[in-house]
This record gives sequence, structure tokens and C-alpha cells, in this order.
Amino acid sequence: MAVKSRRQAVVVDVGGVKVGGNHPIVVQSMTNTDTVDVPSTVNQVMALARAGSELVRVTVNTEQAAAAVPKVADTLDKFGMRVPIIGDFHYNGHILLKKYPECARALAKYRINPGNANIGRKTDDNFRTMIEVALANNKPVRIGVNWGSLDSALLTRMMDENSKLAEPKDAREVTLDAIVASAIQSAKAAESYGMGPDKIILSAKVSGVQDLIDVYRALADQCQYALHLGLTEAGMGNKGVVASTAALAPLLQEGIGDTIRTSLTPAPNGDRTEEVLVSQQILQSLGIRSFTPQVTACPGCGRTTSTFFQEMADEIQTYLREQMPKWKSGHPGVETMKVAVMGCVVNGPGESKHSNIGISLPGTFEEPKAPVYVDGRLMTTLKGNQIVAEFIQILNEYVTAHYATAN
Ligand code: SF4
Repeated sequence: MAVKSRRQAVVVDVGGVKVGGNHPIVVQSMTNTDTVDVPSTVNQVMALARAGSELVRVTVNTEQAAAAVPKVADTLDKFGMRVPIIGDFHYNGHILLKKYPECARALAKYRINPGNANIGRKTDDNFRTMIEVALANNKPVRIGVNWGSLDSALLTRMMDENSKLAEPKDAREVTLDAIVASAIQSAKAAESYGMGPDKIILSAKVSGVQDLIDVYRALADQCQYALHLGLTEAGMGNKGVVASTAALAPLLQEGIGDTIRTSLTPAPNGDRTEEVLVSQQILQSLGIRSFTPQVTACPGCGRTTSTFFQEMADEIQTYLREQMPKWKSGHPGVETMKVAVMGCVVNGPGESKHSNIGISLPGTFEEPKAPVYVDGRLMTTLKGNQIVAEFIQILNEYVTAHYATAN
């Protein structure tokens, strides 16, 4: 089944990156440094951007953080790093954006959580102030509802109304309805203050996979705003990766989602850029966008008793990823290349023929030679202990010959 055509969301320009319409689904991420620590924040933003994050969000939670934002932006500029920076505000965004106009100018977008910007209360001055600052600076906003901080007044009202119905919905349904209503009502409030729909991105994040799917289907049905998609608090390791993929894939398949973030919890001292690679891999696995050549590797079995096969698959994948910054600008289209690294001749030659380049390593008891297929044809057979280096040489020659050198 092919991916359904994209829901046509209103296009939003975030610091030059277009989100919505038929523009490619944008990969974004968020730093976990203290924004006040400018060098650490700059380093992490650069790492995330180099990994492929097209927008990067930073926490703006204190006056010191707001004061640091322009320094972060200036330093990135000095390094020639042009990734748009988004400010994540909770509770005091109205104060910080007003008091630190350079912060408001330096950011490409403001994330507003309506659950803690007093919308729905007697006065929604805080929310309104943030919208007014965005309007004054010609910046878009993301109205980002999170069920962990859902507008409690709205939820209480909807629960009360539901309890009076002849056939009340269960609490889960009402909560999900309230999440969607909070997002849409907040967006409408922003419009009533003069903000155009081309300046509004919506998100409504929950941590349950089925809940997220239901919420985003409802949002997609009820509005045309660009949607930021992500499973909040996805968790660590395999759980986070699998849960995020399980949640995002059905929605992306249905054409829902204009920008995505994978909210992984890194291991202590772990690599923050993993969340970017996971987002890219979700999009590439679905055939929606290509970011890096893909290595098809068999799982290995009793025929591959040595670790040579796993090491080679890993080396090739790493090599391809490391070349991408250079190849991306020098050899456009290389990101669609498919490489097979197979453990033996059972499926090796067949899988290799379906790839641009493929190699079948010798399995246990097989003759010590590795046939290499290029564009479906047997090109050569490698032997000896230089197989990886020789295969990489073939890869490089293939890239040079098949992906035009950009001027
Ligand atoms: S291709 Fe060969 S080594 Fe790989 S899983 Fe299949 S039988 Fe095992």
C-alpha cells in the first residue's frame, strides 16, 4: 500500500523552513542542555543540525535563558550554522518575550503551551501577550498541547458537560476530545488576536500510541493547520524507538503530519542526536523521504558464526552515514542508494541484485570469497582480508559514477 496523499495543511515558514502543504516533512529535535550554558547549547544545536535536524528547539525557562538565546543564535551564525531555533516556553513566556526583545527576535518560532499560558481562564492575557509579541516580530508559533499539562478548566468543563449526556462518553474519550479542543480553541483565539493560520502550527501530544493516533486523526479532520507530530515522553532505548514508530507510522501513512519529533530519553551521557536519526529512519522506512543510503543486512544465523559479518555491516553503515554531509552536497540523489551486506549465499546474491550494490560474505563452510553485485550484475568476487576496504572503494566509485557531481 502506498502512502496516502498528504493532508494539505496551511504552509508555515519557520525561519526559512517551510512546514505544511506538499513541503517535505520536517525533522526537528530539542536540546537538553541548560540554555544558559551557551557553549554546550551551541555544540548540541550544531550536533543535532549536522545529524539532520532542520529545526532545533531550546528551553527558555528563566531570564538568564532568555538572555542567552541571542548569544546562542549569534554564535551559531558565526559558525555558519543556519538552523532555525525555536523557543520552548511554559508559564512565564509572556514575561520573558516582553522583557527580552532580542530573544523574541532571535527565535524563529515560539512554542506556547496553552495549558500553562492561562488560556480559558477569566483572562488569557499571558497567551495573548505571547501572540502579540509573535505578531510584532512576524514569527510563527506552535500551540503545543500536552496531556501532562492540559488546560484543567477546559477538561473540567467538558467532563461536566459529558456527565449530563444521556449516554456519556468514557473519561478517556472526553480527555482526548479536550486535548483536541484545547489545541483548536487556542489556535482560534490566536486568530482572533490577528494571527493568520499561516503562522500557526498545532501539536497535541500524549504518551499512549493509540491515544496519539486518535488525537491526530481528530485534529486532521477538524482543521487545516500544519501539524507537529510526536509521541511525548516516548521513553528510553528500544521502547522509545518502537513506541514512536508505532505511533507515527500509521499517521504518516495516512498523510497526517508536517513536522515530526521523536522524544527519546537518551541514556546517561548518551547521544542526543539519536532522536534525529530515528525520525529520519521512520520517514525513510515509509518511503516518504530519503536521508542516507540504506544498508540491507540479513540478521545472520548459524551460517555466520564469526562476528566479521556484523562488523562489516556496521562499518559500511557507519561509513555511509559519515560520508553523507559531503555526498549530500556533492552527489545529490545518493541518499536513495541501496546497499546489501549479506551473510551467505542463501539470500545474499538475490538481495544484492535488488540493491544498487550488494556483497555476500562467505558463510561457514563456504568457499572464502565474496561476490559483489552492481546494478543486479555480478561485478567481481572479493577475497582475502581487505574485503571491507575493497568494497568501500567500489562504493565510492559507484557514487562518483552514478550521482552527478553538483557544481
Ligand atoms: S542470508 Fe545466509 S547468513 Fe544471512 S540469515 Fe540468511 S541464511 Fe543466514
